[in-house]
Amino acid sequence: MKRNFNDDISTPDKFVVTLELVPGREITGSKIDKIKNIARDACSDDRITAVSITDNPGGNPALSPDALGHEMQSYGMDVIVHFTCRDSNRVGMESRALQLAHMGMKNILALTGDYSGKGFGGRGTPVFDFDSVILTSMLNDLNNRLIKTGHSEIFKTGCAVSPFKFTEGETMVQYSKLKRKIEAGATYAITQLGYDIDKYEELLLYKREHNLDIPVLASLYLLGKGPARPMNAGKVPGVHVSDRLLHKVLQEYESGEGKKQAMERIARLGVVLKGIGYNGIHIGGIHDSYETVAQVLDRMDEIEHNWQDYREEFQENDPNCFYLYKQQGQPETVRPYKEKIKLNVGDNCHYLFLRTAHDWFFDKNATLAPVYKKISNSLDKSKTSWALKLFLEDPFKKLMLSCQSCGDCGIQHVGFLCPESGCPKHTRNGPCGGSNRGYCEVNEDKLCVWVRAFYRMKRYGETDELTGEFVPPRLWELKDTSSWINFHLDRDHQSNKAA
Ligand code: SF4
Repeated sequence: MKRNFNDDISTPDKFVVTLELVPGREITGSKIDKIKNIARDACSDDRITAVSITDNPGGNPALSPDALGHEMQSYGMDVIVHFTCRDSNRVGMESRALQLAHMGMKNILALTGDYSGKGFGGRGTPVFDFDSVILTSMLNDLNNRLIKTGHSEIFKTGCAVSPFKFTEGETMVQYSKLKRKIEAGATYAITQLGYDIDKYEELLLYKREHNLDIPVLASLYLLGKGPARPMNAGKVPGVHVSDRLLHKVLQEYESGEGKKQAMERIARLGVVLKGIGYNGIHIGGIHDSYETVAQVLDRMDEIEHNWQDYREEFQENDPNCFYLYKQQGQPETVRPYKEKIKLNVGDNCHYLFLRTAHDWFFDKNATLAPVYKKISNSLDKSKTSWALKLFLEDPFKKLMLSCQSCGDCGIQHVGFLCPESGCPKHTRNGPCGGSNRGYCEVNEDKLCVWVRAFYRMKRYGETDELTGEFVPPRLWELKDTSSWINFHLDRDHQSNKAA
């Protein structure tokens, strides 16, 4: 029977099961054969709706999900293609999207992506011309263009979300970004991996509170002792395995029951997630055979009616973790969280200074805005804007923001921090999923730029601005020109001409 992920995910009360497959650097051989066999066998089990295939996981080269997925579609299995922003610019990404449309590959999981890993000759250039919100918007725009030329809707774009964050700042900016992804056109979400049921539930409560009406699948993983260690050490971006869980997994392997217990864990967590209202599960860590998944699903059928019995074993109740909602039915005191992140006075002054300067000089509704426009026009016409840039703009912005002269300033979207110099992935619409306890996935000794933005704005009750409007991509044609003049002459990304 031919699978249709979109039909299944759009059917109320249907519990969807998908599998994540991870190709490597081979094009043939036993590893690829195993992956193909898993997909073929999954196809003969009507409990599985689709397989999803990763896109250069960890930033390292691997067989393309487009090629492998296309082959799997020929078995009758529906495929979700992971599509990251790391390896190509907007031209390459649109070209890839057209290719996928041409191949009939409709389901996309739009991701910012892990940072660059190593390929031929060393580490690859991290492109990140778009973030996942902009990519989602581009796919939505492409859909509309194709519909106008007589095609039916092509892409169904989904997004990732991580409730497994420890600080208030990174939790709230993750949820703000989810809103933006949905506004940009995401029609379903898949969580990152974690094992705290209160965090899983937090996401559902947030969705309900903010009327975010999209189905969500929860990621589950066959947790062996091999992957559990790096996951616990924060080496797998966005994934969280607590010390308590690692200890348990190691003990299970010592007793010779490791795999059996890992399967039981997926089955138990799976039924609890179904019980609390998830629309499905997305199972990863299956590398050898489909049989493991079939056994897990059989076990879920057996224990489903008792799901509440298993809930407690997935409650971390970590006192160092921020929970947005108090535990159901418990007094607030069961969440004695104390925020660990405190910004220094310098950060606060930096924010206040730049915010004030922005309000005076870069607000189109400011009293003097027409004057700035006139000055900009005259500098531009007399071809002397370079002097303003060289003697005033560059020294000021280099000192304050480590400016990279992109000519299309986006600091106002990130709490007056620079998304180019401050974020290795140049995100403009919210954080990637990789931060760890507030710190950046790439520069581990620095706070994530969005976490800093959150705490800078929290002090003034301005964090709602982080869920503001969609921020278009930067305009590369403005590189090394004056962003001040570009702003006043309506040339930058804020001019609504960026398309
Ligand atoms: S600064 Fe934040 S959003 Fe940027 S790469 Fe680091 S963790 Fe991701």
